[in-house]
Amino acid sequence: MTQGTTVLGLAFFVTCAAAQTPNAQAVLRGVEALSPRFDKISRQIWESPELGWREHKSSALLKEELRAAGFRITDNVAGLPTAFTAEWGSGAPVIGIIGEYDALPGLSQVDLPEKQARVAGAPGHGCGHNLFGPASAMAAIAAKEQLIARKLPGTIRFYGTPYEEGGAGKVYMIRAGAFKDTSAVLAWHPWDGNMADDNSWLANVKADVRFKGSAAHAAGAPDAGRSALDAVELMTHAVNLMREHVPQETRMHYVITNGGSAANIVPDAAALSIIVRHPDLKTLEGLWERVMNCAQAGALATGTTVEIEIAAGYANFVTNTVLRDLLDRNLKITGGVTYTPDEAAFAERVRLSVGAGALPPLDAGSKIQAPRTTLSSVSTDVGDVSWVTPTGHMLAATFPPGVPLHSWQSTACAGTSIGRKGMMVAAKTLALSAVELFQNPELVKQARATFDAKMAGQKYRSLIPEGKRPALPAAQ
Ligand SMILES: [Zn+2]
Ligand SMILES: [Zn+2]
Repeated sequence: MTQGTTVLGLAFFVTCAAAQTPNAQAVLRGVEALSPRFDKISRQIWESPELGWREHKSSALLKEELRAAGFRITDNVAGLPTAFTAEWGSGAPVIGIIGEYDALPGLSQVDLPEKQARVAGAPGHGCGHNLFGPASAMAAIAAKEQLIARKLPGTIRFYGTPYEEGGAGKVYMIRAGAFKDTSAVLAWHPWDGNMADDNSWLANVKADVRFKGSAAHAAGAPDAGRSALDAVELMTHAVNLMREHVPQETRMHYVITNGGSAANIVPDAAALSIIVRHPDLKTLEGLWERVMNCAQAGALATGTTVEIEIAAGYANFVTNTVLRDLLDRNLKITGGVTYTPDEAAFAERVRLSVGAGALPPLDAGSKIQAPRTTLSSVSTDVGDVSWVTPTGHMLAATFPPGVPLHSWQSTACAGTSIGRKGMMVAAKTLALSAVELFQNPELVKQARATFDAKMAGQKYRSLIPEGKRPALPAAQ
């Protein structure tokens, strides 16, 4: 099902809040020139939302543009069919820009300010990754053009990273050595405001816990049965008691994925999916051990067995003050988004439908906020990248202030010019920042020194077991 590209209102412009040097103007013009193509691509990805490991069309669209711009493509990175890199130039510095393009299950939504699925039950781009990949690809192409124009040495590399939403695609790419020669990496995320990140996103670990018992007639021979569901209940009870005795910033959540099939049969199989999060990877490891003990306790008390399979794990984000300041400085040059009257009316309807109390002012997206220092309670596998190479991360206002990620509201905005304006803020800021890194080798050195000082004595270790391969769809 295809809908026409929606542009709300007539004018498309991004305000410029800080003085622009002729150099900056050239970069911004370069990104603007790419806007018509990438507006279309972001909409195409939005119209064909693909879940993790299945992002074939989305990755192909970005690859085609990068190839046409002269980038060398490496497919199938880490054996993942929808992971790729695209690079231009040679030698150091190697500046990476990360792109994502996976969608979320069940969030299908039309581009209207009211809840309505395009296809009932289908995926949707509630995290705005249809904007994420295109903005990063635009930045990489615009940076390449400046490398040529200014005869600068180095390599610009776009990372096409699959399945961020629970698959930890970047962890497998790191293990395959995809980031081993990078001087610095830049990334962004769709948000409801514009700011550089100076905070830690939560590290997390997700596992499938499966209990096995013995089936029996629940009334006729209950003594012959061993209930796997009892084990699930005991484990979750233990986890819920544990909540009182964990650090404040901890998050623990689960769903029961198999609770048995009929009340008159003692369930011989039951399972849950559980996620535990904490801002510090080391603390998380300790918490995870306790949660796994809860699972063992459930099995021991019920005479069942337990099998634990770690499905994904994300590291916390290691901030880098040099790259934070670089992104903040360039965000101020780019400026925020300004809505047309039509966009403002759309945004207001969407915001009011959220119903989450007091809303920030509608024009908050036109401003650049100070780098964010408050803890983010969500997670990203960009965190893992930040453990292996200096990484800068920023947010851009693709959603009206107060609109949460992973909602029908954010999905709707991601398909409109509201989302695409935020995409341009990200593309311009990333392009300006990448070009500055190429022009100023001292900055790259400083970013590395900051990274080395912060990581002294620490070693990256994903909670995903070494050697584990992701569960790719059978069709591949
Ligand atoms: Zn998300
Ligand atoms: Zn996301």
